[in-house]
Amino acid sequence: MQAQTYWLADKIRQVQSGSPDVTVAIIITKEQVKSASAESFLGHLYKSKDFRQDLNLSSSAWFYHPETLRRILVVQINDGKEKKDARQGGAKAAQDLMACKLDICHVIVSDEVKSEHIGILANSFYLTNFEFSYKTDPKSRFGAEAIAEGVFEEDKDPRKEKFTKKIAHVVISTMDSENVFCDPKYAFWIAAARGAEFCRNVANVRGSTATPDYMEEVVRKLIEGKPQIKDFRVVKGQQLVDLNMNLLHAVGKSATSEPRCITVYYNGNPDKDTVDVSFIGKGVTFDTGGLHLKPSGGIELMYLDKGGACSVLGALHGALELGIKLNVVFAFGLAENSIDGASYKPMDILTSMKGYTVEIDNTDCEGRLILADMFTYVHKEFKPAKIVDLATLTGAVVMALGMEYAGLFSNDDDFANEITQTGQQVFEKYWRLPIPDESREQTISPTADLVNSFRTPFAGASRAAAFLEKFVEKGVKWVHLDIAGAFGGDRPKPPNCAGGNGFGTHTLLQYLWNNQAQ
Ligand SMILES: [Zn+2]
Repeated sequence: MQAQTYWLADKIRQVQSGSPDVTVAIIITKEQVKSASAESFLGHLYKSKDFRQDLNLSSSAWFYHPETLRRILVVQINDGKEKKDARQGGAKAAQDLMACKLDICHVIVSDEVKSEHIGILANSFYLTNFEFSYKTDPKSRFGAEAIAEGVFEEDKDPRKEKFTKKIAHVVISTMDSENVFCDPKYAFWIAAARGAEFCRNVANVRGSTATPDYMEEVVRKLIEGKPQIKDFRVVKGQQLVDLNMNLLHAVGKSATSEPRCITVYYNGNPDKDTVDVSFIGKGVTFDTGGLHLKPSGGIELMYLDKGGACSVLGALHGALELGIKLNVVFAFGLAENSIDGASYKPMDILTSMKGYTVEIDNTDCEGRLILADMFTYVHKEFKPAKIVDLATLTGAVVMALGMEYAGLFSNDDDFANEITQTGQQVFEKYWRLPIPDESREQTISPTADLVNSFRTPFAGASRAAAFLEKFVEKGVKWVHLDIAGAFGGDRPKPPNCAGGNGFGTHTLLQYLWNNQAQ
C-alpha cells in the first residue's frame, strides 16, 4: 500500500510537470480514499467528509492539486478486484473528461486495480470516448499525433478520414505499466475496442451512403494486403441468380446498388485445411420493409439493419489485428430492401439455393431469406464445422428481452453455452430462447415448402430461428444471435453509445481468442 501511494503522488506530479496542457484523472478504490495514506495525493482533502460524500454520490469529483493548483479528476471504484468495477471506472473517467471538452488526458490507475483488469478499463474508456458525428465542428483534430505510452493510437474512420474520438489524446498508466501493456490480454481488449469502434463507424453510416457497394468497399479496404486472407469472393446481382441464390437476390433486386454475398476466408492456421467456424452477418443496408412498407416511427432506424454484418466486420478487424490462429470464414449477406417496379411481391414463391421453395408472406421478413441462402453458400463452398450468425432480425426479440440481452438460438447445447459464457467474459449478454415445434410448424406453407412469415404476433423470434434452422446442414453446430434490441439502445449506458453500438464484435473476437490454436 505504501509503495503504491507514493507512486501515485509522484506520478501525478511527474505528469503535471511534463505538460501544461495535460489533464490528469486518477482511478482509485473506495478503500484508498478512506486510508490515511490518501493525504499524499489528496492533500488536506483526505480529511474532508464532504469530499468523500461527493465521491460516494457520483463516484467522481474534481479537485485542485494542493501544490500545482491544477485540477485533477478522481474516479472512485468500489473494488479493484472486480472486472465490472474496472469497466465502470474507465467509462466514468471518459465521461467526465469528455464533458469538460478536454483534448489531452492522462489517466493514472491505482495499483489496487488488478493488473489483468487494466485492459478492461482501457477498453471501456476507449469505447466511451466515442462519438459518431457529422457536425462541422471548427475545432479541428486532424493530423494530431497520439501520445503513445503503450496506449491508444489515434484512430480515424478509414473512409471519412474523420476522428470519432471526443478526447484526441489519451494516455493510461499504472504502476506496473510495462508488464500490463505487454500482456497479450491487454492487446486483446484494445483490439476488441478498436474492432467494435470500426463496427460502430460503419453501422452508423446512413442508408443512402452505406449501400451494398459501400460495404464491399469497406471489406476490401480492411483486408487489403493482409497475408492471412486466403480467399475473397463477391457474388452479386445476376451472379446470385446464376447460383440459385434467389432469396438473397429477390430482397435486394429493386435497389440501385446490387445485392451481394461476400466471403472472406481468414486462414490463421495454415497447418489445417478445414474451416473452424464461419460468422455470417445480416447486412440489410436499409430496410424499407419492401412492399410491406414500414410506417413512420418504424422505418427511421433501418440503416442499422446491417448491424449483424457490421459486428462480423468488427470481429474481422480484431482478428487481423491480433493475428488470430484459426481458420474463419467471415460472411456478409448484403442487400437494400427497397421498392420499385422490380420489387419482390407478397406471395411470390421463390426457390432457395438449397432447393426449398419459399412463399413470401411478408416482404419485411427479408433477413431470414438473406441468411438462408448465405448458409447454403458458405456450407457448399467452405464446409465450416460451426456457424454463428448475427442479425438484427426481429422486433419480437426486443419485445421478449428488451435492449440489454440478445436472443440466442441453437441446435447444440454445448455450443449455445459456450457462446453465452463467451459473451459474459466481454459484458455482452445472451438469453437462450427455444425453437418449439409450434414455431417449426408455422414455417410450413400450404403451397410451397416454407413460408417466411406467419400472421400471428406470438413468438416471432423463435419462428425466424425455426426458418433459419431449415437451412443449417446436418452435423453443423449453429448459434443464431438475434441482436435486434442489443445492437442499438435509445438510452445507452457507457461504454455503449447511442445508435449502432457494436454489440456482438466482442463476443466473436473473444470466441476466436479462446479457441485459437496454441
Ligand atoms: Zn425487414
